[in-house]
Amino acid sequence: MIKEKIIGKLRVVPGKGVNLKKIETGWAQNEELKAYEKGAVKEQAIKILEANRLSLTSSQELLWANNTHSVLIVLQGMDTAGKDGTIRHVMSGMNPQGCKVCSFKVPTTDETEHNFLWRYSRDLPRRGEIGVFNRSYYEDVLVVKVHPGILDNQQLPPGKRGEKFWNARYDDINAFERHLVRNGTLILKFFLHISKDEQKKRILERLETEEKHWKFSLADLAERTFWDEYQKVYETMFAKTSTDEAPWYIIPADYKWVARTLVADIVSTQIQSLGLKYPEVSVEQLKQIESAREQLKNE
Ligand code: AMP
Ligand code: MG
Repeated sequence: MIKEKIIGKLRVVPGKGVNLKKIETGWAQNEELKAYEKGAVKEQAIKILEANRLSLTSSQELLWANNTHSVLIVLQGMDTAGKDGTIRHVMSGMNPQGCKVCSFKVPTTDETEHNFLWRYSRDLPRRGEIGVFNRSYYEDVLVVKVHPGILDNQQLPPGKRGEKFWNARYDDINAFERHLVRNGTLILKFFLHISKDEQKKRILERLETEEKHWKFSLADLAERTFWDEYQKVYETMFAKTSTDEAPWYIIPADYKWVARTLVADIVSTQIQSLGLKYPEVSVEQLKQIESAREQLKNE
């Protein structure tokens, strides 16, 4: 019951403007939920996560058996938003043979020698697989839009980097996704939404806990100073690229148990909505099975 109340609100309605400041990052997504006690919501969330892990395992098997569809999970979020932890939790019950996680960093020279979507196309999941993009082609309209100087080293044809340029990128992304969807890819896009205060807490934790030192990057502090710019480019990105075929979900992520449960739930529900069934065995195949069984028994 709690679950239904939350999930309907997370999907970004195509074409609709988003004001991130007005969207909860905490555990109480709406007024009704605030009436519940936090502990009770957490308890239920953990149960839902467990149930979803089980259903994901069987959904994955169906995907694999059919070999007609693939799932592409796109994860975006500010530094420390919890992308890695979410992947770890959501994928934990899956068969590694049918999953693939790709983390995208600053593009290499080889990558910038190609069109911007090239490196992402190379790593798309095969039919039957679940692929996770830890950061994605959306970086090319996020970090690159916040720091357009990045484009100077990318061998692009000359021209203004104004609204027309960015609109063309959103168009390219929508066309790319439409192509994938038409070819049997289920695309699920998640933005892990944390507050600026929560990010401060998490960066401080990395600085103050010896075991977390390795996670700290000076670049995170530098990017934090562009917080407002990032929120703005995220908002534009949602308005331009949340589509019926590939919608964005904005996931409140200040509490890791909330984010992980919601992502797992949406992934498992959406895979189920593909309505996949185990492939039917033909009469001919049944005969072969029968005769193989006889052959082995009589060996
Ligand atoms: P992390 O995910 O913390 O390992 O950091 C990866 C870094 O690579 C982030 O700072 C991203 O902004 C950056 N990055 C990822 N994709 C791109 C891209 N297409 N262009 C520029 N920087 C990128
Ligand atoms: Mg980082």
